[in-house]
Amino acid sequence: MRHIAIIGSGPAGYYTAEAAQKAFGEDVRIDVFDSLPVPYGLIRTGVAPDHQSIKGVSRRFEQTALTENVRFVGNVSVGTDVTVPELRGLYDAVVLATGAPHDRPLDLPGENLANVYGSAAFVGWYNGHPKFAGLDPDLSGGTAVVIGMGNVALDVARILSKTPAEFAGSDIVAHALDILAHSNIKRIVILGRRGPHQVMMTPKELGELAQLEQASPRVDPLDLPDAGEDALLEPGLRKSVTHLRSFAAIPEALHGEKKIEIEFDFFAIPKALIGNGKVEAVEVERANVVAGRAVGTGATYRVPASLVVSCIGYRSSPIPEVPFDERQGRFANHEGRILPGLYCVGWARRGPSGTIGTNRPDGFEVVDKIAEDIASGVIGRADRKGREGFDALAAERGIAIVTFRDWKKIEEAEEQAARSGAPREKFVDIEAMIRAVN
Ligand code: NAP
Repeated sequence: MRHIAIIGSGPAGYYTAEAAQKAFGEDVRIDVFDSLPVPYGLIRTGVAPDHQSIKGVSRRFEQTALTENVRFVGNVSVGTDVTVPELRGLYDAVVLATGAPHDRPLDLPGENLANVYGSAAFVGWYNGHPKFAGLDPDLSGGTAVVIGMGNVALDVARILSKTPAEFAGSDIVAHALDILAHSNIKRIVILGRRGPHQVMMTPKELGELAQLEQASPRVDPLDLPDAGEDALLEPGLRKSVTHLRSFAAIPEALHGEKKIEIEFDFFAIPKALIGNGKVEAVEVERANVVAGRAVGTGATYRVPASLVVSCIGYRSSPIPEVPFDERQGRFANHEGRILPGLYCVGWARRGPSGTIGTNRPDGFEVVDKIAEDIASGVIGRADRKGREGFDALAAERGIAIVTFRDWKKIEEAEEQAARSGAPREKFVDIEAMIRAVN
Protein backbone atom coordinates (compact mmCIF):
# COMPACT_ATOMS: atom_id res chain seq x y z
CA MET A 1 0.00 0.00 0.00
CA ARG A 2 1.26 3.49 -0.93
CA HIS A 3 0.46 6.45 1.31
CA ILE A 4 0.32 9.93 -0.19
CA ALA A 5 -0.35 13.22 1.61
CA ILE A 6 -1.41 16.14 -0.56
CA ILE A 7 -1.27 19.53 1.16
CA GLY A 8 -3.92 21.81 -0.31
CA SER A 9 -7.35 20.89 -1.65
CA GLY A 10 -7.49 23.33 -4.57
CA PRO A 11 -7.26 22.38 -8.25
CA ALA A 12 -3.58 21.31 -8.03
CA GLY A 13 -4.37 19.14 -5.00
CA TYR A 14 -7.43 17.35 -6.37
CA TYR A 15 -6.01 16.87 -9.87
CA THR A 16 -2.98 15.24 -8.19
CA ALA A 17 -5.28 13.01 -6.13
CA GLU A 18 -7.12 12.01 -9.31
CA ALA A 19 -3.83 11.22 -11.08
CA ALA A 20 -2.54 9.19 -8.10
CA GLN A 21 -5.73 7.18 -8.05
CA LYS A 22 -5.41 6.41 -11.74
CA ALA A 23 -1.73 5.45 -11.37
CA PHE A 24 -1.92 3.31 -8.23
CA GLY A 25 -5.56 2.09 -8.25
CA GLU A 26 -6.54 0.25 -5.07
CA ASP A 27 -2.98 0.26 -3.80
CA VAL A 28 -3.00 3.83 -2.58
CA ARG A 29 -4.42 5.84 0.30
CA ILE A 30 -4.48 9.58 -0.30
CA ASP A 31 -5.05 12.21 2.39
CA VAL A 32 -5.83 15.70 1.07
CA PHE A 33 -5.10 18.27 3.80
CA ASP A 34 -6.41 21.84 4.00
CA SER A 35 -5.94 24.49 6.67
CA LEU A 36 -9.58 25.55 6.16
CA PRO A 37 -12.52 23.31 7.09
CA VAL A 38 -13.74 23.65 3.49
CA PRO A 39 -12.19 22.25 0.30
CA TYR A 40 -11.35 23.54 -3.21
CA GLY A 41 -8.93 26.41 -2.46
CA LEU A 42 -8.84 28.85 -5.36
CA ILE A 43 -12.07 27.47 -6.81
CA ARG A 44 -13.91 28.66 -3.72
CA THR A 45 -11.98 31.80 -2.80
CA GLY A 46 -10.09 32.87 -5.95
CA VAL A 47 -12.28 32.30 -9.01
CA ALA A 48 -14.65 35.25 -9.42
CA PRO A 49 -18.11 34.73 -7.86
CA ASP A 50 -19.79 35.63 -11.16
CA HIS A 51 -17.84 32.91 -13.00
CA GLN A 52 -19.89 29.98 -11.72
CA SER A 53 -19.22 27.82 -14.77
CA ILE A 54 -15.48 27.77 -13.90
CA LYS A 55 -16.36 26.83 -10.31
CA GLY A 56 -18.28 23.83 -11.71
CA VAL A 57 -14.99 21.86 -11.81
CA SER A 58 -15.48 21.26 -8.07
CA ARG A 59 -18.06 18.60 -9.01
CA ARG A 60 -15.26 16.65 -10.67
CA PHE A 61 -13.11 17.05 -7.54
CA GLU A 62 -16.02 15.84 -5.42
CA GLN A 63 -16.10 12.57 -7.38
CA THR A 64 -12.44 12.05 -6.49
CA ALA A 65 -13.02 13.12 -2.90
CA LEU A 66 -15.84 10.64 -2.41
CA THR A 67 -13.86 7.56 -3.47
CA GLU A 68 -12.80 5.07 -0.81
CA ASN A 69 -9.07 5.64 -1.04
CA VAL A 70 -9.15 9.46 -0.93
CA ARG A 71 -10.05 11.44 2.15
CA PHE A 72 -10.28 15.15 2.95
CA VAL A 73 -8.48 16.23 6.11
CA GLY A 74 -9.74 19.77 6.70
CA ASN A 75 -8.90 22.25 9.45
CA VAL A 76 -5.27 21.08 9.75
CA SER A 77 -2.44 23.57 9.24
CA VAL A 78 0.68 21.89 7.94
CA GLY A 79 3.69 23.61 9.44
CA THR A 80 1.89 24.34 12.72
CA ASP A 81 -0.49 21.50 13.67
CA VAL A 82 1.81 18.97 12.04
CA THR A 83 5.23 19.52 10.48
CA VAL A 84 6.39 18.50 7.03
CA PRO A 85 9.13 16.21 8.47
CA GLU A 86 6.43 14.47 10.56
CA LEU A 87 4.31 13.93 7.44
CA ARG A 88 7.34 12.68 5.51
CA GLY A 89 7.80 10.08 8.24
CA LEU A 90 4.19 8.94 7.89
CA TYR A 91 3.60 8.99 4.12
CA ASP A 92 5.62 7.65 1.18
CA ALA A 93 5.11 10.93 -0.66
CA VAL A 94 4.07 14.40 0.50
CA VAL A 95 2.93 16.76 -2.26
CA LEU A 96 2.67 20.50 -1.55
CA ALA A 97 -0.27 21.89 -3.52
CA THR A 98 -0.56 25.02 -1.41
CA GLY A 99 -0.86 27.52 -4.26
CA ALA A 100 0.36 31.09 -3.95
CA PRO A 101 -1.84 32.81 -1.37
CA HIS A 102 0.25 35.96 -0.73
CA ASP A 103 0.30 39.14 -2.80
CA ARG A 104 3.53 40.08 -4.50
CA PRO A 105 4.41 43.38 -2.89
CA LEU A 106 4.51 46.53 -5.02
CA ASP A 107 7.60 47.67 -3.12
CA LEU A 108 6.58 51.30 -3.58
CA PRO A 109 6.45 54.24 -1.18
CA GLY A 110 2.95 54.60 0.27
CA GLU A 111 2.09 50.93 -0.18
CA ASN A 112 0.83 50.75 3.41
CA LEU A 113 -1.65 53.64 3.11
CA ALA A 114 -5.25 52.84 4.00
CA ASN A 115 -7.50 51.53 1.19
CA VAL A 116 -4.56 50.02 -0.72
CA TYR A 117 -5.00 46.27 -1.09
CA GLY A 118 -3.37 43.41 -2.87
CA SER A 119 -5.61 41.25 -5.01
CA ALA A 120 -5.30 38.20 -2.70
CA ALA A 121 -6.88 40.29 0.05
CA PHE A 122 -9.43 42.07 -2.15
CA VAL A 123 -10.52 38.96 -4.05
CA GLY A 124 -10.57 37.05 -0.74
CA TRP A 125 -12.87 39.73 0.64
CA TYR A 126 -15.57 39.46 -2.02
CA ASN A 127 -15.17 35.67 -2.10
CA GLY A 128 -15.55 35.28 1.69
CA HIS A 129 -12.10 33.93 2.56
CA PRO A 130 -12.07 33.86 6.40
CA LYS A 131 -8.72 35.68 6.47
CA PHE A 132 -10.02 38.64 4.44
CA ALA A 133 -13.75 38.72 5.13
CA GLY A 134 -13.29 41.67 7.51
CA LEU A 135 -11.38 43.86 5.01
CA ASP A 136 -14.18 46.43 4.72
CA PRO A 137 -12.78 48.48 1.80
CA ASP A 138 -14.00 52.06 1.48
CA LEU A 139 -15.79 52.51 -1.87
CA SER A 140 -17.15 55.96 -1.05
CA GLY A 141 -14.58 57.78 -3.25
CA GLY A 142 -14.82 58.33 -6.99
CA THR A 143 -11.78 56.63 -8.58
CA ALA A 144 -10.35 53.17 -8.15
CA VAL A 145 -6.94 52.29 -9.58
CA VAL A 146 -6.29 48.67 -10.44
CA ILE A 147 -2.60 47.92 -11.01
CA GLY A 148 -1.70 45.18 -13.51
CA MET A 149 -3.14 43.98 -16.80
CA GLY A 150 -3.85 40.32 -16.11
CA ASN A 151 -7.10 38.43 -15.60
CA VAL A 152 -7.16 39.20 -11.89
CA ALA A 153 -7.14 42.95 -12.68
CA LEU A 154 -10.10 42.28 -15.00
CA ASP A 155 -11.95 40.34 -12.29
CA VAL A 156 -11.47 43.20 -9.82
CA ALA A 157 -12.50 45.91 -12.30
CA ARG A 158 -15.59 43.92 -13.34
CA ILE A 159 -16.68 43.19 -9.76
CA LEU A 160 -16.30 46.89 -8.89
CA SER A 161 -18.51 47.76 -11.90
CA LYS A 162 -21.47 45.45 -11.60
CA THR A 163 -24.96 46.35 -10.42
CA PRO A 164 -26.54 44.18 -7.69
CA ALA A 165 -28.78 42.65 -10.39
CA GLU A 166 -25.72 41.55 -12.37
CA PHE A 167 -24.63 39.44 -9.39
CA ALA A 168 -27.76 37.28 -9.71
CA GLY A 169 -26.72 33.63 -9.78
CA SER A 170 -23.28 34.41 -8.35
CA ASP A 171 -22.02 33.39 -4.91
CA ILE A 172 -20.59 36.78 -3.98
CA VAL A 173 -20.82 37.05 -0.20
CA ALA A 174 -23.47 39.27 1.36
CA HIS A 175 -21.03 41.69 3.03
CA ALA A 176 -19.37 42.47 -0.33
CA LEU A 177 -22.65 42.72 -2.22
CA ASP A 178 -23.84 45.26 0.31
CA ILE A 179 -20.72 47.46 0.14
CA LEU A 180 -20.62 47.25 -3.68
CA ALA A 181 -24.28 48.24 -3.91
CA HIS A 182 -23.42 51.52 -2.14
CA SER A 183 -20.22 52.19 -4.08
CA ASN A 184 -19.57 55.70 -5.42
CA ILE A 185 -16.85 54.63 -7.83
CA LYS A 186 -17.32 56.21 -11.24
CA ARG A 187 -13.88 55.78 -12.75
CA ILE A 188 -11.75 52.65 -12.68
CA VAL A 189 -8.24 53.07 -14.09
CA ILE A 190 -6.41 49.90 -15.03
CA LEU A 191 -2.69 50.68 -15.00
CA GLY A 192 -0.33 48.68 -17.17
CA ARG A 193 3.36 49.38 -17.43
CA ARG A 194 3.49 48.02 -20.98
CA GLY A 195 1.18 48.33 -24.03
CA PRO A 196 -1.86 46.66 -25.62
CA HIS A 197 0.34 44.00 -27.23
CA GLN A 198 1.65 42.93 -23.83
CA VAL A 199 -1.59 42.48 -21.88
CA MET A 200 -1.97 39.19 -19.96
CA MET A 201 -5.77 39.38 -20.25
CA THR A 202 -7.58 36.60 -22.11
CA PRO A 203 -10.24 37.37 -24.77
CA LYS A 204 -13.33 35.97 -23.06
CA GLU A 205 -12.61 37.86 -19.84
CA LEU A 206 -11.79 41.09 -21.70
CA GLY A 207 -14.96 40.80 -23.81
CA GLU A 208 -17.07 40.78 -20.64
CA LEU A 209 -16.22 44.45 -20.06
CA ALA A 210 -18.29 45.38 -23.09
CA GLN A 211 -21.37 43.65 -21.66
CA LEU A 212 -21.65 45.54 -18.38
CA GLU A 213 -24.90 47.30 -17.56
CA GLN A 214 -23.53 50.45 -15.97
CA ALA A 215 -19.89 50.53 -17.09
CA SER A 216 -18.06 50.94 -20.36
CA PRO A 217 -14.40 50.34 -21.21
CA ARG A 218 -12.28 53.13 -22.64
CA VAL A 219 -9.06 52.73 -24.60
CA ASP A 220 -7.19 55.66 -26.12
CA PRO A 221 -6.86 54.89 -29.87
CA LEU A 222 -3.43 56.54 -29.82
CA ASP A 223 -2.15 53.78 -27.51
CA LEU A 224 -2.84 51.08 -30.09
CA PRO A 225 -0.06 49.94 -32.43
CA ASP A 226 -0.74 49.79 -36.17
CA ALA A 227 -3.42 47.18 -36.83
CA GLY A 228 -1.07 45.38 -39.24
CA GLU A 229 1.21 44.48 -36.32
CA ASP A 230 -1.53 42.37 -34.71
CA ALA A 231 -0.91 39.63 -37.29
CA LEU A 232 2.34 38.78 -35.51
CA LEU A 233 0.60 38.02 -32.21
CA GLU A 234 -0.36 34.52 -31.06
CA PRO A 235 -4.09 33.96 -31.70
CA GLY A 236 -5.35 34.40 -28.11
CA LEU A 237 -3.54 37.68 -27.62
CA ARG A 238 -4.65 38.83 -31.06
CA LYS A 239 -8.28 38.31 -30.00
CA SER A 240 -7.66 40.26 -26.80
CA VAL A 241 -6.20 43.12 -28.82
CA THR A 242 -9.24 43.00 -31.10
CA HIS A 243 -11.38 43.65 -28.01
CA LEU A 244 -9.13 46.57 -27.04
CA ARG A 245 -9.55 47.97 -30.57
CA SER A 246 -13.33 47.69 -30.27
CA PHE A 247 -13.20 49.54 -26.93
CA ALA A 248 -11.15 52.30 -28.61
CA ALA A 249 -13.87 52.58 -31.27
CA ILE A 250 -16.70 53.28 -28.78
CA PRO A 251 -18.06 56.75 -29.72
CA GLU A 252 -17.54 59.46 -27.14
CA ALA A 253 -21.31 60.04 -26.83
CA LEU A 254 -21.87 56.45 -25.68
CA HIS A 255 -19.35 56.72 -22.84
CA GLY A 256 -21.48 59.33 -21.12
CA GLU A 257 -24.48 56.98 -21.06
CA LYS A 258 -22.99 54.73 -18.42
CA LYS A 259 -22.25 55.59 -14.81
CA ILE A 260 -18.80 54.00 -14.64
CA GLU A 261 -15.86 54.19 -17.01
CA ILE A 262 -13.15 51.53 -17.03
CA GLU A 263 -10.13 53.24 -18.48
CA PHE A 264 -7.02 51.46 -19.74
CA ASP A 265 -3.91 53.46 -18.92
CA PHE A 266 -1.08 51.82 -20.88
CA PHE A 267 2.64 52.61 -20.71
CA ALA A 268 2.20 53.66 -17.08
CA ILE A 269 4.65 52.51 -14.39
CA PRO A 270 3.36 53.07 -10.84
CA LYS A 271 6.05 54.85 -8.82
CA ALA A 272 4.40 55.81 -5.52
CA LEU A 273 1.11 55.88 -3.67
CA ILE A 274 0.28 59.31 -2.36
CA GLY A 275 -1.97 60.22 0.53
CA ASN A 276 -2.26 61.38 4.08
CA GLY A 277 -3.09 58.21 6.02
CA LYS A 278 -5.39 57.09 3.25
CA VAL A 279 -4.54 56.77 -0.43
CA GLU A 280 -5.45 59.76 -2.61
CA ALA A 281 -3.44 59.24 -5.82
CA VAL A 282 -0.98 57.04 -7.64
CA GLU A 283 2.11 58.65 -9.07
CA VAL A 284 2.89 57.18 -12.44
CA GLU A 285 5.80 57.44 -14.85
CA ARG A 286 5.16 57.29 -18.58
CA ALA A 287 6.97 54.42 -20.27
CA ASN A 288 8.07 53.19 -23.66
CA VAL A 289 8.26 49.52 -24.44
CA VAL A 290 11.82 48.73 -25.52
CA ALA A 291 12.61 45.13 -26.48
CA GLY A 292 9.52 44.01 -24.59
CA ARG A 293 10.37 45.87 -21.38
CA ALA A 294 8.80 49.01 -19.90
CA VAL A 295 11.36 51.81 -19.76
CA GLY A 296 10.44 55.01 -17.90
CA THR A 297 10.58 58.29 -19.83
CA GLY A 298 11.01 60.47 -16.74
CA ALA A 299 7.62 62.17 -17.32
CA THR A 300 5.33 61.66 -14.33
CA TYR A 301 1.68 62.40 -13.55
CA ARG A 302 -0.82 61.57 -10.84
CA VAL A 303 -3.97 59.51 -11.14
CA PRO A 304 -6.48 60.32 -8.38
CA ALA A 305 -7.27 57.16 -6.42
CA SER A 306 -9.57 56.64 -3.46
CA LEU A 307 -9.00 52.87 -3.68
CA VAL A 308 -6.02 50.95 -5.07
CA VAL A 309 -5.99 47.23 -5.77
CA SER A 310 -2.71 45.83 -6.95
CA CYS A 311 -3.11 42.73 -9.12
CA ILE A 312 0.52 41.99 -9.95
CA GLY A 313 0.81 38.32 -9.06
CA TYR A 314 1.25 36.10 -6.03
CA ARG A 315 3.81 34.27 -3.90
CA SER A 316 3.62 30.92 -2.18
CA SER A 317 3.71 30.71 1.60
CA PRO A 318 6.96 29.22 2.92
CA ILE A 319 6.61 26.21 5.25
CA PRO A 320 9.23 25.54 7.96
CA GLU A 321 11.90 23.06 6.90
CA VAL A 322 10.97 23.19 3.21
CA PRO A 323 13.53 24.80 0.85
CA PHE A 324 12.06 28.00 -0.59
CA ASP A 325 13.08 30.06 -3.62
CA GLU A 326 12.72 33.60 -2.25
CA ARG A 327 13.30 35.28 -5.59
CA GLN A 328 10.63 33.30 -7.43
CA GLY A 329 8.29 33.15 -4.42
CA ARG A 330 7.73 29.39 -4.65
CA PHE A 331 9.22 26.17 -3.31
CA ALA A 332 12.74 25.39 -4.54
CA ASN A 333 12.22 22.38 -6.75
CA HIS A 334 13.47 20.53 -9.78
CA GLU A 335 10.52 19.50 -11.96
CA GLY A 336 8.35 19.17 -8.87
CA ARG A 337 10.89 17.34 -6.69
CA ILE A 338 11.95 19.20 -3.53
CA LEU A 339 13.55 16.51 -1.34
CA PRO A 340 13.24 12.70 -1.44
CA GLY A 341 9.54 11.99 -0.93
CA LEU A 342 8.64 15.71 -0.93
CA TYR A 343 7.12 17.25 -4.06
CA CYS A 344 5.24 20.34 -5.15
CA VAL A 345 2.65 20.93 -7.83
CA GLY A 346 0.61 23.76 -9.39
CA TRP A 347 1.37 27.34 -8.38
CA ALA A 348 3.51 26.09 -5.46
CA ARG A 349 5.81 24.57 -8.10
CA ARG A 350 5.71 26.92 -11.07
CA GLY A 351 4.36 30.20 -9.73
CA PRO A 352 1.01 31.89 -10.43
CA SER A 353 0.34 31.29 -14.11
CA GLY A 354 -2.05 29.37 -16.32
CA THR A 355 -5.68 28.41 -15.95
CA ILE A 356 -7.38 25.94 -13.59
CA GLY A 357 -6.99 23.29 -16.32
CA THR A 358 -3.18 23.73 -16.38
CA ASN A 359 -3.13 21.94 -13.02
CA ARG A 360 -4.40 18.71 -14.54
CA PRO A 361 -1.24 17.84 -16.52
CA ASP A 362 0.76 19.18 -13.54
CA GLY A 363 -0.95 16.62 -11.28
CA PHE A 364 -0.23 13.76 -13.66
CA GLU A 365 3.38 14.89 -14.02
CA VAL A 366 4.08 14.90 -10.28
CA VAL A 367 2.48 11.48 -9.89
CA ASP A 368 4.79 10.20 -12.67
CA LYS A 369 7.73 11.49 -10.63
CA ILE A 370 6.43 9.69 -7.54
CA ALA A 371 6.04 6.45 -9.54
CA GLU A 372 9.58 6.85 -10.92
CA ASP A 373 10.97 7.41 -7.42
CA ILE A 374 9.18 4.32 -6.12
CA ALA A 375 10.51 2.27 -9.04
CA SER A 376 14.07 3.47 -8.45
CA GLY A 377 13.82 2.85 -4.71
CA VAL A 378 14.27 6.52 -3.70
CA ILE A 379 10.99 6.26 -1.78
CA GLY A 380 8.56 3.53 -0.80
CA ARG A 381 10.99 1.10 0.85
CA ALA A 382 10.13 1.86 4.48
CA ASP A 383 6.80 0.76 5.89
CA ARG A 384 4.81 3.98 6.36
CA LYS A 385 1.85 4.25 8.69
CA GLY A 386 -0.06 6.68 6.47
CA ARG A 387 -3.43 7.93 7.63
CA GLU A 388 -3.52 5.58 10.63
CA GLY A 389 -0.30 7.17 11.87
CA PHE A 390 -1.61 10.67 11.21
CA ASP A 391 -4.87 9.95 13.05
CA ALA A 392 -2.93 8.76 16.11
CA LEU A 393 -0.85 11.95 16.03
CA ALA A 394 -3.98 14.11 15.61
CA ALA A 395 -5.69 12.37 18.55
CA GLU A 396 -2.60 12.91 20.70
CA ARG A 397 -2.55 16.63 19.82
CA GLY A 398 -6.29 17.18 20.01
CA ILE A 399 -6.53 18.24 16.34
CA ALA A 400 -10.19 18.17 15.31
CA ILE A 401 -10.21 17.04 11.66
CA VAL A 402 -13.02 18.15 9.36
CA THR A 403 -13.86 15.30 6.98
CA PHE A 404 -15.51 15.46 3.56
CA ARG A 405 -18.76 14.27 5.15
CA ASP A 406 -18.48 17.22 7.59
CA TRP A 407 -17.87 19.56 4.64
CA LYS A 408 -21.07 18.30 3.03
CA LYS A 409 -22.95 19.50 6.14
CA ILE A 410 -21.29 22.92 5.80
CA GLU A 411 -22.19 22.96 2.11
CA GLU A 412 -25.79 22.06 2.83
CA ALA A 413 -26.08 24.86 5.41
CA GLU A 414 -24.56 27.32 2.91
CA GLU A 415 -27.01 26.24 0.23
CA GLN A 416 -29.93 26.64 2.61
CA ALA A 417 -28.77 30.15 3.52
CA ALA A 418 -28.45 31.26 -0.13
CA ARG A 419 -30.36 34.34 -1.25
CA SER A 420 -32.87 33.73 -4.02
CA GLY A 421 -31.17 32.56 -7.23
CA ALA A 422 -27.71 32.21 -5.64
CA PRO A 423 -26.00 28.83 -5.29
CA ARG A 424 -24.91 29.41 -1.68
CA GLU A 425 -24.18 31.99 1.00
CA LYS A 426 -20.70 31.13 2.22
CA PHE A 427 -19.71 31.04 5.86
CA VAL A 428 -16.95 33.58 6.19
CA ASP A 429 -15.51 32.55 9.54
CA ILE A 430 -14.07 29.26 10.66
CA GLU A 431 -16.12 29.05 13.89
CA ALA A 432 -19.37 29.31 11.90
CA MET A 433 -18.17 26.53 9.58
CA ILE A 434 -17.36 24.28 12.57
CA ARG A 435 -20.74 25.08 14.17
CA ALA A 436 -22.45 23.91 10.96
CA VAL A 437 -20.61 20.58 11.27
CA ASN A 438 -21.70 20.06 14.86
P1 NAP B 1 -0.66 37.91 -14.52
O1 NAP B 1 -1.48 37.34 -15.59
O2 NAP B 1 0.75 37.45 -14.38
O3 NAP B 1 -0.67 39.51 -14.68
C1 NAP B 1 0.06 40.32 -13.82
C2 NAP B 1 0.08 41.74 -14.34
O4 NAP B 1 0.74 42.55 -13.36
C3 NAP B 1 0.84 41.94 -15.64
O5 NAP B 1 0.14 42.84 -16.46
C4 NAP B 1 2.18 42.54 -15.18
O6 NAP B 1 2.75 43.41 -16.11
C5 NAP B 1 1.72 43.36 -14.00
N1 NAP B 1 2.80 43.63 -13.05
C6 NAP B 1 3.61 42.75 -12.44
N2 NAP B 1 4.46 43.38 -11.61
C7 NAP B 1 4.17 44.68 -11.70
C8 NAP B 1 4.68 45.85 -11.10
N3 NAP B 1 5.66 45.76 -10.20
N4 NAP B 1 4.14 47.05 -11.42
C9 NAP B 1 3.15 47.12 -12.32
N5 NAP B 1 2.60 46.07 -12.92
C10 NAP B 1 3.11 44.86 -12.62
O7 NAP B 1 -1.27 37.65 -13.07
P2 NAP B 1 -2.77 37.61 -12.51
O8 NAP B 1 -3.65 38.56 -13.17
O9 NAP B 1 -2.56 37.69 -11.04
O10 NAP B 1 -3.26 36.15 -12.87
C11 NAP B 1 -2.60 34.99 -12.34
C12 NAP B 1 -3.00 33.78 -13.16
O11 NAP B 1 -4.36 33.43 -12.91
C13 NAP B 1 -2.90 34.02 -14.66
O12 NAP B 1 -2.44 32.88 -15.29
C14 NAP B 1 -4.33 34.32 -15.04
O13 NAP B 1 -4.64 34.09 -16.39
C15 NAP B 1 -5.07 33.36 -14.11
N6 NAP B 1 -6.47 33.83 -13.94
C16 NAP B 1 -7.38 33.39 -14.84
C17 NAP B 1 -8.68 33.83 -14.76
C18 NAP B 1 -9.68 33.34 -15.77
O14 NAP B 1 -9.34 32.50 -16.59
N7 NAP B 1 -10.89 33.85 -15.77
C19 NAP B 1 -9.06 34.73 -13.77
C20 NAP B 1 -8.10 35.17 -12.87
C21 NAP B 1 -6.79 34.72 -12.97
P3 NAP B 1 4.00 42.96 -17.01
O15 NAP B 1 3.40 42.02 -18.02
O16 NAP B 1 4.50 44.21 -17.56
O17 NAP B 1 4.96 42.25 -16.09
